[in-house]
Amino acid sequence: MAVMAEVSTTTGAALRSPASPPQAPVKEGDAEKLRFIEEVTSDVDAVQERVLAEILSRNAGTEYLDKCGLAGATDRATFRAKVPMATYEDLQPYIRRIADGDRSPILSGHPVSEFLTSSGTSAGERKLMPTIEDELNRRQLLYSLQMPVMNLYVPGMDKGKALHFLFVKSETKTPGGLAARPVLTSYYKSSHFKNRPFDAYNNYTSPTAAILCADAFQSMYAQMVCGLCQRHDVLRVGAVFASGLLRAIRFLQLNWEQLAADIEAGTLTPRVTDPSVREAVAEILRPDRELAEVIRAECSSGDWAGIITRIWPNTKYLDVIVTGAMAQYIPTLKHYSGGLPMACTMYASSECYFGLNLRPMCDPSEVSYTLLPNMCYFEFLPMDAAASGGDASQLVDLARVELGREYELVITTYAGLNRYRVGDVLQVTGFHNSAPQFRFVRRKNVLLSIESDKTDEAELQRAVERASALLRPHGATVVEYTSQAYTKAIPGHYVIYWELLANKSSSAGAGAGPAVDRETLDQCCLEMEQALNSVYRQSRVADGSIGPLEIRVVRPGTFEELMDYAISRGASINQYKVPRCVTFPPIIELLDSRVVSSHFSPALPHWTPGQRNDD
Ligand code: AMP
Repeated sequence: MAVMAEVSTTTGAALRSPASPPQAPVKEGDAEKLRFIEEVTSDVDAVQERVLAEILSRNAGTEYLDKCGLAGATDRATFRAKVPMATYEDLQPYIRRIADGDRSPILSGHPVSEFLTSSGTSAGERKLMPTIEDELNRRQLLYSLQMPVMNLYVPGMDKGKALHFLFVKSETKTPGGLAARPVLTSYYKSSHFKNRPFDAYNNYTSPTAAILCADAFQSMYAQMVCGLCQRHDVLRVGAVFASGLLRAIRFLQLNWEQLAADIEAGTLTPRVTDPSVREAVAEILRPDRELAEVIRAECSSGDWAGIITRIWPNTKYLDVIVTGAMAQYIPTLKHYSGGLPMACTMYASSECYFGLNLRPMCDPSEVSYTLLPNMCYFEFLPMDAAASGGDASQLVDLARVELGREYELVITTYAGLNRYRVGDVLQVTGFHNSAPQFRFVRRKNVLLSIESDKTDEAELQRAVERASALLRPHGATVVEYTSQAYTKAIPGHYVIYWELLANKSSSAGAGAGPAVDRETLDQCCLEMEQALNSVYRQSRVADGSIGPLEIRVVRPGTFEELMDYAISRGASINQYKVPRCVTFPPIIELLDSRVVSSHFSPALPHWTPGQRNDD
């Protein structure tokens, strides 16, 4: 049993909200972590100054900082005067050389250990983020702070397990031989994760072999069956993002009969072929007729409301990020969980892990993340400056952001990104000690997102152009379009509304728009998918986490009605622009009521794990 030394620290008291349970004493191991949070948040500016000096001295001999004319300086004033803000595209020539095998200190003074493939894309391909070995320690540190904070709010989390659906994705090698993979894949495959000591607060029902299985079906099946076998032990259910947890529920909907049969027989379906996964599941799976009957009873009724707590009755909360693009899934998660609290514990990216939610049990609408000043050097571009391009002179330090204002996040990392624009917009909501806390407002330039895909307006425009070329032989063109991330079904999918126009020579049916055959319009859906970025296509092909793209053809005149509606609600007739994505329910209703036909992509788009060579 864990030693329950009551540590009467002001630490726990400072972090605990007035509404948190008074009965949870701070445990010995946690006190040290909580003290660390208190320390780094107490004099943010001093920590940031030290972090910047450390980064600049480690990277002093790099080609990039030399070019900036830093000449070994590590002070803020010189850094501010000499180093410009940068986007991924600015850094791409340097990144490409590293990827091609140039081992000289280009961006980082420490050897680049691998590339992390961001879900943000550039020219349709995942961005490659160079990283270094000791970033893993910083990520590990942030993970280690999560449960001590949670323990202040939810007692007894060491008395059971976490059903956390964790997955690795495929990885490739760059031409220079470095691995390129998503940050979580890198973490789960690291010795930090694989050889982690037993921790009663992070005791997963999923065997590590199941997490590390790259086959999405086998991994999910094994994790689900193990989670079902240990149903009474489960105290929290989660995935990294809301979409992942919903995918797991969908998986249960589709596979409960087989899962129940396996549990009744105590044998694993032959569809799971990976020997290490089979071996790991065999340790847990035992014949259990009673459990199989419970699963059948709960899943066969067709009523999926509250399924999470019916199957895992001791679940105290969902451990899942529902801020940002994931907020669209909150109602569905509430439905399946019977309204369990949703804990958004951290804010992180491939570039760097940023910070923690110090009030993890708050309502999703109130989530703020405290950026930890030891993770990297943070700067902020006020959104009004960002809107007009922005330049480095307008950047504000972490200690100088103003309450209520919105900023774009700019970071300087140990791995060698300097004044790098992450693309996230954050709003200051308060302070913990002197550390500002931020609400995640949105990711810049993202129009559509179902899972980790991020499709911007230009990409959507290109995809529509490419697909509409298929209409030309039929004498039709797309006159207007808009889109919607449809998430009422799992998996969600993109819906694109098209208004078509018949060219003069073609024969159009009265009022219904030009006659284009079904097959061509189905093909247009696939053509659009082919044109979308590789993260979208990977989600479609490898993960099955996005469903087939749908085109809904609307009646001629629909977009004029849309404009009339917007003007009736106060839009200026001169400035009106067709929104390229719609979320407002009355607008969606209007569009849906004008649909004359709907079409789905008939096949999977093309996707292979590798990056394009010319990227
Ligand atoms: P990636 O580069 O693929 O690792 O994605 C990182 C991005 O995911 C961040 O820059 C954010 O836009 C988004 N993200 C990460 N954590 C959160 C969070 N807690 N809430 C909202 N968005 C998040």
